[in-house]
Amino acid sequence: MRHGPVERLRAAGLRVTPQRVAVLEALEACSHPTADEVYRRVAARYPQMGLATVYNTLAALARQGQVVAVNIAEGRRYDLRTDPHQHIRCRRCGRVDDLPPWEDPGWQAMAVPPGWAVERWTLLAEGVCPACSAGATAAAPSS
Ligand SMILES: [Zn+2]
Ligand SMILES: [Zn+2]
Repeated sequence: MRHGPVERLRAAGLRVTPQRVAVLEALEACSHPTADEVYRRVAARYPQMGLATVYNTLAALARQGQVVAVNIAEGRRYDLRTDPHQHIRCRRCGRVDDLPPWEDPGWQAMAVPPGWAVERWTLLAEGVCPACSAGATAAAPSS
């Protein structure tokens, strides 16, 4: 069952406001956005909303497990998916998508030194996303 914006805000103990709902809608619309990307989307509809409010809302949601903060090389992304899973990042445009969880016992037996108990995996795959692959010959990448 997926939780909607209102349920997530309530579960995080936040008052439900249109601006905070817009923060969660931005997370639904983008794949793993940064706080700045969330802010730009929300500010397009609510110009009076400050960046600090976006940060505080995301931080409160993350504290209560309603979103997950994913730390990736060039900054923190926010993820509505709260079950264990891994990520793949496009080195051209920075897009981040989901990979399956990595809790395969066979992999663990091979990769983890004896005596270690793994509690959480944070693996990051890097590569080139389909959009960037398709555009590689047509248009120059932006960075
Ligand atoms: Zn890309
Ligand atoms: Zn994810």
